[in-house]
Amino acid sequence: MFHTLNRHTPGIVTQARTGHGHFGEYYYTHNIREPATCPCGAELQTREHIVFECQTDEQHWNIIDERASDYQLATLFGTKAGIDALAEFVKMRKAFQKQKARAMREPDEQKAIAKPQMSHA
Ligand SMILES: [Zn+2]
Repeated sequence: MFHTLNRHTPGIVTQARTGHGHFGEYYYTHNIREPATCPCGAELQTREHIVFECQTDEQHWNIIDERASDYQLATLFGTKAGIDALAEFVKMRKAFQKQKARAMREPDEQKAIAKPQMSHA
C-alpha cells in the first residue's frame, strides 16, 4: 500500500503546504537563480500547476483526483485525505524536490553577445 512514506516525505509535504520548496514559483518569488518554468513548458511552475495541471504528471493525477476533486490547494493541504494524497504524489513524482536535471546553465544569448566581432577585411 501507499503508507510506507520515506522519511523525507513529511518534510517535503510541509514545505509544499507552506509554499517553501523546490518549485518555480518559489524560485521566482525568492530571487533564486533557478528556472521558474516547468519542464513541460509552462512559464511559471506554481504548486497548483504541479499537482493539478502539469502534463508531465498525467500518470499521477489519479492520486490527486480521488481526494482533492475540487482542485483546490486548500483541500490538498488542509484535509487529511488531501495531505495523504499529496504525500503519495510527492513520493511518486519526487515533486517539490531539487531536480538535478534542472541545473542552471548560462543562456546561449549571453555567449552570442560576448562573441568578438568578426572583421571581414
Ligand atoms: Zn508542468
